[in-house]
Amino acid sequence: MRLMAVHAHPDDESSRGAATLAKYAAQGHEVLVVTATGGERGDILNPAMDRPGIHENLPLVRRDEMARAAAILGVQHHWLGYKDTGLQLDPALLPHDGFARVPLDQSVGRLVEVIHAFKPHVLITYNECGGYPHPDHIRTHEMAVAAYRACAEVSKLYYIHEPVRVTPTMVRNFERLERLRRKADRRRADRPQNARPVDERPLTVPRWVRAVGVLTRGLRTLSARRATTEIACVDYFELRDKALRAHATQIDPRGHFLVLPWTWRQQLWPTERFELAHARVDTTTPEADLFAGLL
Ligand SMILES: [Zn+2]
Repeated sequence: MRLMAVHAHPDDESSRGAATLAKYAAQGHEVLVVTATGGERGDILNPAMDRPGIHENLPLVRRDEMARAAAILGVQHHWLGYKDTGLQLDPALLPHDGFARVPLDQSVGRLVEVIHAFKPHVLITYNECGGYPHPDHIRTHEMAVAAYRACAEVSKLYYIHEPVRVTPTMVRNFERLERLRRKADRRRADRPQNARPVDERPLTVPRWVRAVGVLTRGLRTLSARRATTEIACVDYFELRDKALRAHATQIDPRGHFLVLPWTWRQQLWPTERFELAHARVDTTTPEADLFAGLL
């Protein structure tokens, strides 16, 4: 069987659903990761890699990192050849040469060619919010879904499961709140005699009502977006971490996720989860195999 995962940047394949890809590859299935952009506008997130020689050569460095990650996961890899848009939430400020601005019929055409060559049975990508609202991620979703529609030979389409759809509006509101909070903090610091921690206010009825409203809306989102498919892949978590570390410029080794031993994570979250977005074969959810209904 053949499995294709469509991602936006090098490193996305290693942080989302990588253990599943490694598992299917190890079982002898053909797995292809397609990366839309070269990740040229990604910041260097690892202080140890933030040094001369890396910045100037970032596109080459990231190609090298991607090749190593693919080898670790045991998957094939294909670059679609577009340029990273950069994390920009204001649509008016998107750079003209970025992937998010490429007309959809062009990028879909390119992906369809890859699908015709590889002939995947199953396609994996992000949900309509991109997993997180990077314009390249949202564009990747649009491109992959359109390509799936155009290619009747692909039997199933999955989204990587995200319990909550994070929209650009949510991020903008969060940023606005953060700015207000910082402003308030600064003001308090300026007038220490007025200092009064916000959390000491009594919880009034209106505040409770609001909190409960947010909570129930959150729960409804969670239940409406249930994962349909859980892949048991604990044996491949070590490979997933190794692949992630291969993207050395993007991964701060002191980041909280990598510090948590993978043996703990095996017990806490022993699966990777997906949402079946469309199927052209008969299958019943919940599933434990992305190829269910195909065998
Ligand atoms: Zn990304």
